[in-house]
Amino acid sequence: MSIASNIKTLRLAVSENVDIVAVSKTKPVSDILEAYKAGQRIFGENRVQEMLAKHIELPLDIEWHLIGHLQTNKVKFIAPFVRMVHSVDSFKLLNEINVQAAKSQRVIDCLLQFYIAREETKFGLSLHEAFEILDNPLFLHFNNIRIAGVMGMASFSDNTELVRSEFRQLRKIFETLENKYFSADVNFRHISMGMSGDYLLAIEEGATMIRVGSLIFGGRQ
Ligand SMILES: *Cc1c(COP(=O)(O)O)cnc(C)c1O
Repeated sequence: MSIASNIKTLRLAVSENVDIVAVSKTKPVSDILEAYKAGQRIFGENRVQEMLAKHIELPLDIEWHLIGHLQTNKVKFIAPFVRMVHSVDSFKLLNEINVQAAKSQRVIDCLLQFYIAREETKFGLSLHEAFEILDNPLFLHFNNIRIAGVMGMASFSDNTELVRSEFRQLRKIFETLENKYFSADVNFRHISMGMSGDYLLAIEEGATMIRVGSLIFGGRQ
């Protein structure tokens, strides 16, 4: 199967109001261009240097989403062009994104990443830590970021009930934050969850954005 036909198949399986982030990490620019020609505009990368290198070579109307763990000292490299950061997991990081976005006179969409898996290795906030970020008085002065929703990764498991319960937990977190902080903010609307192996479950549980790599581009080594 070609990348273009993989995208068409996925697009048909997913309702129009779910955004597809094509996760192009480790894949060459030529693969991204093939997806672009098939109409795909949102691409996700998990490493700053890789995203930077690809961004320079590719069309300007691509929306670049950073989906992997982001170190504060690397924000400056992507702030001039990144559209959304899915992996905000500290106040310090949010502050730095705001500072660097201001330097580029931009507003960067951010998702708060939550720890929902039963695995030690994943990053993310607890609900309590998110409250601490959003209750920080300085947060109100962040004019160059927008909190656009939440992101999470479920356990890597074929236990669908476990994975479903983790997605459900993320949706509950979204609703809690929406009620407490964002009821008047139309920008707070995304639940980024679901990958190649579990995107249908994620959509059933309320995902508005799925992050799909191998199903589009083939496996990575
Ligand atoms: C790699 C990656 C994905 C995509 O994984 P696939 O299983 O290839 O679809 C999604 N989200 C994050 C955070 C990733 O690092």
